[in-house]
Parts: sequence; structure tokens; C-alpha cells
Amino acid sequence: MQTVDTLIIGAGLSGLTAAYRLHQQNRSVMVLEAADRVGGWIQTHHEGGYTFEGGPNTFPSTGQELMDLCRELQLEPQATQASASKRYLYLNGNLTALPQKPWQALTTPVLSPLAKLRLLKEPFQPKCQADDMSVAGFLTHRVGREVVENLVDPFISGIYAGNVNTLSMPAVFPKLWQWEQDYGSIFQGLRHRPKKDPTQPKPKMQLMSVTGGLQTLTHSLAQALPAPAIRLQCPVQAIEKIGADKTGTTSYQVRLNDGEIWQAQNVILAVPAFVAATLLDNLMPDAASLLRHIPYSSLAVAHLGFRAEQIPHALDGFGFLIPRKENMPLLGAIWASSLFPERAPQGHVLLSNFIGGAHYPEILKQKASQIQRQVTRDLQTVFHLNGSLEPAFGHVQHHPNAIPQYNLGHVQRIAGIEAALQKHKGLHLAGNYLHGIALNACVQSGQSAAQAILNQSS
Ligand SMILES: Cc1cc2nc3c(=O)[nH]c(=O)nc-3n(C[C@H](O)[C@H](O)[C@H](O)COP(=O)(O)OP(=O)(O)OC[C@H]3O[C@@H](n4cnc5c(N)ncnc54)[C@H](O)[C@@H]3O)c2cc1C
Repeated sequence: MQTVDTLIIGAGLSGLTAAYRLHQQNRSVMVLEAADRVGGWIQTHHEGGYTFEGGPNTFPSTGQELMDLCRELQLEPQATQASASKRYLYLNGNLTALPQKPWQALTTPVLSPLAKLRLLKEPFQPKCQADDMSVAGFLTHRVGREVVENLVDPFISGIYAGNVNTLSMPAVFPKLWQWEQDYGSIFQGLRHRPKKDPTQPKPKMQLMSVTGGLQTLTHSLAQALPAPAIRLQCPVQAIEKIGADKTGTTSYQVRLNDGEIWQAQNVILAVPAFVAATLLDNLMPDAASLLRHIPYSSLAVAHLGFRAEQIPHALDGFGFLIPRKENMPLLGAIWASSLFPERAPQGHVLLSNFIGGAHYPEILKQKASQIQRQVTRDLQTVFHLNGSLEPAFGHVQHHPNAIPQYNLGHVQRIAGIEAALQKHKGLHLAGNYLHGIALNACVQSGQSAAQAILNQSS
């Protein structure tokens, strides 16, 4: 049996951040990772002259904890091209630029005059009385059905690959929910936002990556740990609590698939919710059951390269989204080489296309070649191409159980899990199913777990 102060299970961004922060405070850590690489969903590929992200592509520069982490690791942040702030919507057979400022919702062609009138009535809609509501239910009541179908639904597809009818409003848009609670309306909440200090420069929000792609971040975190602190291909199978020793300290025993046992006073589970559920089945059956109720959406990503002249569009933006009512399995695409021109060979463009999600999970049953054909057909429709579109490059990835769905009851579910954890000193959770799926939220989550351990022993 091997012993260590803190065991971290899972070497995604959440787990690696926790390990890094603990190591900085001279705590001995061991990260056990099931896969043969670190990074979890963060995976940058270099192939055929193209560079593409299998998982996340960008993060906003306003994500303070992640920006600080990059700075500490001496990584070179790389901002996307200025045009990245522009996003397109494929609606009624056309690609249309989306409003970039809230007031532009009143001039955008993606909403009918009636929908704009309905939007203006938002401050006069009665306050919702429920403790929880679906994103679609709440926002249809506040801003009308067309705004939900044309703007909210594709936005949700782009982030959660999810379903607006089952995602929970207070979990997905906590600020908008709270504004309604506090001021009776979203517009009133917007008006009451704390004013920025006019003497301070206004921070400019840019979408960022790091030079070399996001995998540089997780590799740098791993390299900042001492050599034996990460074990790859070590899927953890079970966790047990062992009674107090002579000093009254409880600890945990962690069993690996090959029978090896590790003992530690602290354990951070930085694995997906359904894995945490299995690991905690014996120790915390109620929390395990709540964890198991967090569903995940599955999707596929087709990274397709084309000669620039094959695509009759300036690709002057982040990419496009498709509302569900268009009845296409394609959720949208990121114009990766428009964000970072060096990611495609000279004269070529790279489109990362997302397909499937909560509405169309069957996509994962299709082979890569079928998915590539489906996406290519959808792109022909989106770009109004008559002839066939033959990619110069293609790489399709299947992503089962990719994105946790903050469905109705999520806030209460997480509160229940966290309350149950209080009874198990030294046991902590980190990950994207808790308080945010974005990369900055994962950094925050890893840091909070590390801080809780440091606080216990200070
Ligand atoms: C396709 C896609 C695109 C995305 N795009 C963006 C984006 O552009 N911007 C953004 O901010 N966010 C984006 N996200 C979300 C973001 O990437 C994730 O929320 C984040 O990377 C999750 O990190 P994590 O460490 O919490 O979990 P994970 O990355 O899932 O890490 C968990 C780790 O645990 C390991 N593990 C599992 N079981 C075991 C076991 N039994 N024993 C040991 N180890 C185990 C796994 O192998 C994995 O390495 C995207 C996600 C996906 C899937």
C-alpha cells in the first residue's frame, strides 16, 4: 500500500489545477488518471498541417482565475482575431450575423416585428413564482417564444449541446434568474447592475487560447508537478473510509483496477459525475444517487479542412449556430482558422462542426465516414452549394457523455451532494458538473477543493 497526503482522481483541468495549487503549498499529491494522457476533454491535435481542438476551443479573457493560472505558468495567451466577436445564425435558409449588443435585438432580422414587440414587454411580465423552471419555460414567459427558438435554443446548443426544455434556468443562467427574483424583470436587473468604476480602464473581453493550443495549459500544469505525481492508465475502482488512527485522523483507501491500494487523508474526486457516483456508491449512497441523476449530452465533432475557394463565405466570425427548428442534426460550427489563421495550411480553411447533442444522441452510432458525409451535406445547404463539397481534410471525433446537463433540480441536487460531503472530512469533489462547465469554472472548482484541504489543516 502506498500513502500520500492528497489523492486526486482525474487529470482533467479541474484535477490538475487542484494538484498544482496543493503542490505549491508543499503538500504531497498523487494524481491517478484512467487515460493514457492528461487533460481530460482538453486535447489539441496537429494533423495534416491543421491544428484543431478536440474539446474546448476558447475561453473569455474575463475568466480571472484561468488568466492568472496562464500567467503563473508563463503561457502565452493568444487572442482570437477581432472578427471572432461576430457570430452567425443559420435561420430560414440564410446565415445572418447575430446581434452583438442587447439593444441590437430590436434591429436584427432574426426576429420578427411581433417578437421584438414581445421582447419590449419583458419588464411588464409578472414575476415567476416557481423555485425552478426550465430555460424554455422561464424565458418564453419573459421574452417570448420566438426569442427562445431563434436565439436561446441555438446558444444553448453551442454551450451545452442541450435541451432548453429540460435545462434549469437558475442553474444555467443564475444571474438572469436572480435579477427576476430581485427586480421582477431581466431588463430591470440589467439596469441595476453595479456600475463600473469610471476611473478604471474598462476590461476588454476577448476570446482566448494559448500558443500551441489549450493542451499546452494542461501539459504545463502536469509538468509543474514533481515527476512521480501523476500516474496514467490507473482507473480508480473504489474508495473506502478507514477508521480513525491513534491521532484520531480518518483517512481513505483508494483501490485501482489492478488491485493496487493507495491511502490518503484527503481525496479529491475530479472525475465526471457518473464516475464519482460509482466510486461513492458504498460510502455515500444518497450522494451517489444524486450524482447519477446528472445526465450528459453526447456529440460528435467533424474537423473539416477545405480550400478557401470551396466555401463561398468570408468566414468573418466565430462560426454559426443552428436553431433546432431548422431540423438539422448539425448544431453549428466554429470557423477555427478564422479565429487562429495558423491552424490551417495557407489557402485553406478549417471548420470544426458540432453534431448530435441532447436532441440527436444517435449520432454516436454512426461511423466517422457517415458523420463526415452528413456534416458535408449540411454545410452544402448552409453555404448554398449546388455541386458536391469534398473536404481536403477530415477528422471526426465521437464524444460520448461529453457535457453535463444542468437539468431541472440541478441546484438542489448539487446542494444535497455538498451537504452529504460535509460528513466526510477530507473528501472533496471538483469538476464541471458542479458550478459551471466553462474552463474558468473548472479552475475555480479545482482551486476551491485544494483550498478546502489547506483550510482544514491550517
Ligand atoms: C466538445 C467540447 C467543447 C467544449 N468547448 C468549450 C469551450 O470552448 N470553452 C469552455 O470554457 N469550455 C468548453 N467545454 C467544457 C470544458 O472543456 C470542460 O468543462 C472541462 O474541460 C472539464 O474539465 P474537468 O477536469 O472537470 O473534467 P474532464 O476533462 O472530464 O476530466 C476528468 C478526468 O477524469 C478521468 N477519469 C474518469 N474516470 C476515472 C477513473 N475511474 N479513475 C481515474 N481517472 C478517471 C478522465 O479520463 C478525465 O481525464 C467543452 C467541452 C466539450 C466536451
